[in-house]
Parts: sequence; C-alpha cells; structure tokens
Amino acid sequence: MSTPIFNNVDHGEIAKFESLSSRWWDREGEFKPLHDINPLRLDFIDARAGLTGKKVIDIGCGGGILSEAMAHRGAKVTGIDLGEAPLAVARLHQQESGVDVDYRNISAEQMALEHAGEFDIVTCLEMLEHVPDPEAVVHACTKLVKPGGHVFFSTINRHPKAYLLAILGAEYVLKMLPRGTHDYQRFIRPAELSRWARKSDLTMREVSGMTYNPLLKRYKLTPHDVDVNYLMHCQRNK
Ligand code: SAH
Repeated sequence: MSTPIFNNVDHGEIAKFESLSSRWWDREGEFKPLHDINPLRLDFIDARAGLTGKKVIDIGCGGGILSEAMAHRGAKVTGIDLGEAPLAVARLHQQESGVDVDYRNISAEQMALEHAGEFDIVTCLEMLEHVPDPEAVVHACTKLVKPGGHVFFSTINRHPKAYLLAILGAEYVLKMLPRGTHDYQRFIRPAELSRWARKSDLTMREVSGMTYNPLLKRYKLTPHDVDVNYLMHCQRNK
C-alpha cells in the first residue's frame, strides 16, 4: 500500500539525524560505521555500474559521506534528504573537499515526479529502515533510474542476529551508535526488498552481506551472510 507522497516520512527519524548533524564528518563519532563501510560500498557500486561520467542520485544522503565519494570517482551526483541540518553540513563540507554535489531538500517520491528516468545510477543506502513505507521509496528509485540503469540499496535484515548485533551490540555494548538509532520492526528482509524491487520493474542482480568483525574493527563483504547488514544491486528492466 503506497503512502501519499508527502507523508512518507517519520519526523522523529529526521529529528534524530538533525540533532547529530555536526557529527557527520567526525570519523570517530556517531557516524563512524558509515565512514568505515564507505570504501566497501563505494567499490561495490563502482565495480558494477562504473561511476565515472554517470549521473547519480543519492537518496537519503545525510551529510554526504557516499555522495562526495562518488563525486570523487567522477560521477555527477545529486544528493537528496529531508533533513535540512545534514544537508547544510554536506554543503559546507563539499566546499572544504572541493567536490561538486548538488544537494536538495526533497523527497524521493517528489523527485521521481519531476525527474523520472533521468539517472544512470540510484543509490539508497542505510535509509529504507528509517521510512514508514519503504516500498514506496523503492518504487520512486525505479522511476528515477533510466531503463537499464542501476539501483543500489542497503539496509538491515529483520533477523534475530541483527537485533543482537545491530541494536544490542552496536548501540548498547560497543556504543558505536546512539541508543534508539534503529528500530527492529523497521528492518527489512532481503526477500521483502527483492519482492518490492521485482514488483517495481527492477531485476535483482546480486545481494551481499557486510559484516563487522569487532576484534579487527573491520567490515568486509560476505556474499553468503546477509543476516545483518546487506547491499543489493538491481537493474531496471529495459
Ligand atoms: N545514505 C547516507 C546516510 C544514512 S543515515 C549514508 O549511508 O551515508 C539516514 C538518512 O536518511 C538521514 O540523513 C535521514 O535524514 C534520511 N532520511 C530519513 N527518512 C527520510 C525520508 N523519508 N526521506 C529522505 N531522507 C530521509
């Protein structure tokens, strides 16, 4: 069931990210996990879709950790988010780093009405689990990408291991994330995400887990372990 396009937002979720906005680029701060997984996910996207020269839209871009990195690889990137404070941080930061990203405060659904079929690549990472109707966002991503273009999602699986690791482990034991960052009920199983993708004219090409080793303090891609964090690569049918 689709939510009306201006309602598919949880203002409490936006407020959480607004209050943390000054911390986006602190590599040792609350967003450390996003900095740590960034090279992995960037290479995953680049290897499958080739970023150089491509027109990319990054949905739920926050402070621009992924948007900037994709622009560094030569993509022409638009970053959208509904939080004004993260966007302000993103705009300031790009001046320091000298990359060019077009940041806009607009929903994915509205953007899809205005710019249907304009993008070679759509990325929507670590965002679906913060939205009331993630299926509507998947549908907007499909509308934004050109036929044959690439769409990348990442989110957290609604699996007991994710409750243990992503909530109890990351928020309570390791304190890598602020308490309340994630809500287990909003986690999404890979089968659900791939079903929404299929219903929405996407073909799922690949899914890979991303696992964290707390002893080595490192993330790696784990193609056969999607129990917690995972990335999905889809292509819009031609
Ligand atoms: N994609 C980025 C940031 C992830 S944090 C990265 O992986 O590095 C989640 C982001 O989603 C936050 O910036 C939050 O403001 C944004 N967000 C939450 N709900 C949203 C919605 N309905 N529309 C757009 N952005 C949203």
